Amino acid sequence: MLALRAAILYNTPMKTELPQAIEAPPVATTTLQPLLQISAVELSRWLKDRGFQPWYSKAIRRWVLFKRATTFEAMSDLPKQLRIQLTEHFIPIKSTPAKSLHAHDGTRKLLLKMWDGEDIECVMIPDHDRRTACISTQVGCGMGCVFCASGLNGVMRNLEPGEILEQLVLLRNLLPAEERLSHIVVMGMGEPLANLDNLLAALEDATAKDGLGIGARHVTISTVGLPVKIRRLAESGKQYSLAVSLHAPNEEMRNKIVPTNNKTGLQNILQAADDYFKRTGRQVTYEYVVLRDINDRPLEADQLSTLLKGRGAHINLIPFNEVEGLPYRRPTDERLNRFVEILRENGMFVHVRKRKGSEISAACGQLRRQAKLEVAGSPLPTGERG
Ligand code: SF4
Repeated sequence: MLALRAAILYNTPMKTELPQAIEAPPVATTTLQPLLQISAVELSRWLKDRGFQPWYSKAIRRWVLFKRATTFEAMSDLPKQLRIQLTEHFIPIKSTPAKSLHAHDGTRKLLLKMWDGEDIECVMIPDHDRRTACISTQVGCGMGCVFCASGLNGVMRNLEPGEILEQLVLLRNLLPAEERLSHIVVMGMGEPLANLDNLLAALEDATAKDGLGIGARHVTISTVGLPVKIRRLAESGKQYSLAVSLHAPNEEMRNKIVPTNNKTGLQNILQAADDYFKRTGRQVTYEYVVLRDINDRPLEADQLSTLLKGRGAHINLIPFNEVEGLPYRRPTDERLNRFVEILRENGMFVHVRKRKGSEISAACGQLRRQAKLEVAGSPLPTGERG
């Protein structure tokens, strides 16, 4: 769902000027171990084995996670010999930005080459005093939502905890020194709950005081709806916010738009989301991508109200961000406004997601798709170029 959410999350009115694009040099492959893939305890052990004080582990990680160091050489308070040995074994951040796009509203998008050379995307969204990172959890996605660029070629693999954490560090490093990352939305490429263990491990460092220090309540995990995993997330005891991507108000329509619904069923997902609320006290948000002439009629607004009645839930409406090659269209303003009106008349809390960064293909998966087309020698679809 994520894809869309982010897509959309980040959409902004199209502008005629080209956004600022920065091409990075070719990615250098390295066999060095990514530092953020090993835990503080493992790093302590590594240090001890080489005759260094184990407590340097904390200082080394702090340099990367807090003080924005991108080389071991920059860690000026560490002994020279230690910096040399670290440089021979590890790399502070292994993922490499292959493309960096900067939208006029301040949204930044990175196409990253991961540790095996696969591409993923992540986005930094500034909004008033918030600095929100939207991150990916898989290369591709296996959920197959019909409107989504990320799922077009299926899922290739899960991202490692270190690869998830590196996205946050790289996005944070784009910010001026006086600004800090305040929020995380796990709405990028992939289904987060299909890679739950690795995601939780990465968020552990993201939310730790000696990590990135982001409050757990400022982390939102968005899912297409995997009931068993929703319950496991609740059992983790964390205060993360949960967003469930519905996109359809009835089983029949959802089976078509979100194919995994054929197995999970809408009611099972809602039950799991209710359990999440009971267990964590965190109100669940429901996301609904509005697709012209598909799920945007007054009938669907009424059905959605009935479905969510009594849950006190918030509904995020996400007007579809059009993806070249897919047949779906953005709803008209008139239809969207009526949809919102009906939901509100029915007592729902409704929010229409702002458009951000559309001129940098902020819809999740679009930039990666372009990169693949470029490699394959295909012309890029008009209007999708960064
Ligand atoms: S296919 Fe995957 S990434 Fe795309 S919207 Fe569905 S769950 Fe999200």
